[in-house]
Parts: sequence; structure tokens; C-alpha cells
Amino acid sequence: MSGGATFLGMPAFPVNAAAAVQDSQLRYNLRKATHTIRGKRALAVGELPDWTELRRAAKEIKDHTLRNLERYLVRMEEAVTAAGGHVHWAADAEEANRIVADLVKATGETSVVKVKSMATQEIGLNEALELEGITAYETDLAELIVQLGDDWPSHILVPAIHRNRSEIREIFREKMADWGRAAPEDLTDEPRALAEAARLHLRERFLSTRVAISGANFMIAETGTLVVLESEGNGRMCLTLPETLISVVGIEKLLPSWQDLEVFLQLLPRSSTGERMNPYTSTWTGAAEGQEFHLVLLDNGRTDVLADEIGRQALRCIRCSACLNVCPVYERAGGHAYGSVYPGPIGAILTPQLRGTASELDASLPYASTLCGACFDACPVAIDIPEVLVHLRGRVRHPRVERLGMRAAGWVFNRPARLARTQRLGGRLRRFVPGRLPGPLSAWTDTRDIPDIPSESFRDWWDRTDGGVK
Ligand code: SF4
Repeated sequence: MSGGATFLGMPAFPVNAAAAVQDSQLRYNLRKATHTIRGKRALAVGELPDWTELRRAAKEIKDHTLRNLERYLVRMEEAVTAAGGHVHWAADAEEANRIVADLVKATGETSVVKVKSMATQEIGLNEALELEGITAYETDLAELIVQLGDDWPSHILVPAIHRNRSEIREIFREKMADWGRAAPEDLTDEPRALAEAARLHLRERFLSTRVAISGANFMIAETGTLVVLESEGNGRMCLTLPETLISVVGIEKLLPSWQDLEVFLQLLPRSSTGERMNPYTSTWTGAAEGQEFHLVLLDNGRTDVLADEIGRQALRCIRCSACLNVCPVYERAGGHAYGSVYPGPIGAILTPQLRGTASELDASLPYASTLCGACFDACPVAIDIPEVLVHLRGRVRHPRVERLGMRAAGWVFNRPARLARTQRLGGRLRRFVPGRLPGPLSAWTDTRDIPDIPSESFRDWWDRTDGGVK
């Protein structure tokens, strides 16, 4: 079942990625999907003559909010409470899961519907609710595919991007009946037929479930309003039909005012799906009539990220997924290799900051990049992902052999005369350099060729020929 907890204990990124690149179907699915979205995005962005200004405005709004987060969070709490909602503060995943489970139990219900929320995946809410005897039903189409397939999300926006249509049909035919209304016997892999099967399955669920759990794309401190952007309308059903609505939102999702939202409503749909505007934008403030509303404000490592001067820019992220769709590493390795609900370039900088770099997997994430910079160019809030990657690489403890190698290289490069002597020695011994290094060093040469050592260094050639004159 989908959820953050299932990623725990995975091996390091290079191991996961090496396995993933062997899967040609996965690579084909990913390439097709990311290139299609990429093309649409380029057209939609190209239409806006003031894209650069919008991007700068978004960066500045986010930076200002993060600098004054405490003040805006308090304002948010006051506004939600004044509008009849209840605000809960959760320092970590355990506390957030406990709060949500208690709220659901207080309603006497044993099932909930969910509109996509990465924050709840981050904290492993579905699994925590399951332990309390509560079943969480995903209602976003892609999340439904992931849940029915007992799979993990592999993309921020299109969690089932690694699946093609015929795989989805098989999942629906085999698993839908276990979760409610079965798929039709004659289900084809036509998008319309698949969407209709999901619609009928979900409609039953919406009409029979009294508690909903959502995330939010933005929170507006000025009025205490939450905003969800989505494509299918399932989210709106989820937000309006149930009697109790619980929203779990990361504290970095704040914007100071409605006017600020204008900037992001232009940037987000264009960056994520290549559309001028998204089909459904739902906003709600406090509790609607006849409904109970709870907002769980989630920290779970975010204030630690905020304390890091370089790393904190990751909190500007609006989860548009543009960086994933342009990343050559993501395109080949897929989202599962990152072992986190946040895959791709943003996952490579956010996950090791939220979870730390103690595990082998988290320590490997800052290296899951070629540092080509395509992610930075695509990011609508101008997060300098390569800068944060390099910064985080400095935090990771490197293997002993690598540290010794770097120390030796430093010793040689530190003195020009020493470097010249080493080069001459290398030139003399070049015949004895093996094609593959022994022991732990072989990890380096397994995927690279050792370059040929020239018989003469550039400096010696220059001295001998006076720069090619003699
Ligand atoms: S880092 Fe930038 S491009 Fe990537 S998901 Fe976040 S906002 Fe979008």
C-alpha cells in the first residue's frame, strides 16, 4: 500500500537505480510521460512574457513568508479558529498520526476518503490508521492506481507515471473488487473506459464515507483559507461531501495574502501539467455549515531545514514536479529509486534534510544527480537545487578509502613541484596502470574507464617546446 513508511530500509540510490534501469518497460513509460509533459510545459511557459518576473515574485513571497513563518502561522491559526475550525500542531509524524487517528475515532467511523496529500504520505498516515483499524481510501485517480496495485508513488504529480494503460486495466480488473465496486468485466484500456471505471468505484465511496482527509497546496494566513488545485474533481467531492474534514498541511505551505496566491495560480499549473489554469481550484475557510473542520499543521523536520541558510530554499517548493520531468537521472531511474515520497531533484535535497543522512539511502540522495542544472532552470520558485546538492554532499560522511584518496590528492595538488614530480612518475609507470582498480576502489572503475595517462605532462611539453615554438 502506498505510504512513506514502506520506503524505510531500502538500499542506497545507486543500488535501486541500477536495478531500475534494467527495466525497459519502466524506462519507456517514464520517457514517454516526462517528455510529453515537458513539451506542454515549455509551450505554456513560453506564452507568458513576464515569466521571469513571476518567478522572481514567487521566490520573494516564499522567502518573506519563511523568514516570518512564526508570525504568519499564528495569524493562520487565529483566522481558522475564528471561522469555526480547529487547529492542531504536530511536531513530528508520530504526533500528526496520533492526532488524526484520534479525530477519526471520535467520529465513530472506521473508514476515510483522502484527496491527495504528500504530507500524509510523508508521515505514513495510511499505515498508522490501519493499525488503529481505520481504512484510508485514496480518491485521486493516480493515487487509486497506486493503492490498488499495492505500489508506491513514483512522481509528485503523477504517482502512477511508471504504469501504462494496459497495466492499469489489469490492476483495476484484479483489485477493484477488494476495495469496493468491481471493475466491469469487459474493461478495455481506453482512457475513457478506465476513467469511467474509477469514477463509478469512487462515487460509491464518496457517498458512503463521512470523514475526509486532505492536504493543501497553499494556506492563506490573512483569511485562514486552504487551497487545493486538482484536475479531476474528485478532490472537490472529497472536500465537500463528508461531515468531518481533516487537513494535514506542512507549515511551509503558507502565503501571507490572497494577492500572493495570484502569482502561484499562474506558475503552478503551467509548471506542473503545462496548462494555463488547473481545472479545479477549491478553497475553504474554517468549517462549512454542517461540517467539522480540523487543520493539522505539520513540522516534521521543517524548522530544522529552515535553520540551514542554504538548504532552506527547498521549503519554497510548490510540488509542481517540473524538476522531475527535466531530470536525466529521474527519467532513467524512476521515482522508486529515491526511496521517498519526494522523488527526483527536489527529493534529493528535501528528503535528506527532513530525514537526516544517517541511513545509507538518505546519504546517497545528494549524489543522485549529474548537477546539470536543468532542475534549477525549470523550477518556478528558483530553487538552486545543484547548490543545495553540493552543500548536502558536504554533510555526508564519505567512505574511508575516498577520504584517504582525497587527502592524498590534496597533498599532491598543494605544491606545484610535487604535482610535477607525480605527473612524471605517472608517465613513467603508465604501462602498469590496470584497467580496473582493486578492492573498494573497483566501485569507481565498474562504471568508468580510467583515462590514459599521457607520457608527458602539459607543463613538461611546454618547457620542452616553448609552447610549441621549438
Ligand atoms: S523544486 Fe521547483 S521544480 Fe521541483 S517540484 Fe519544487 S517547485 Fe517544482
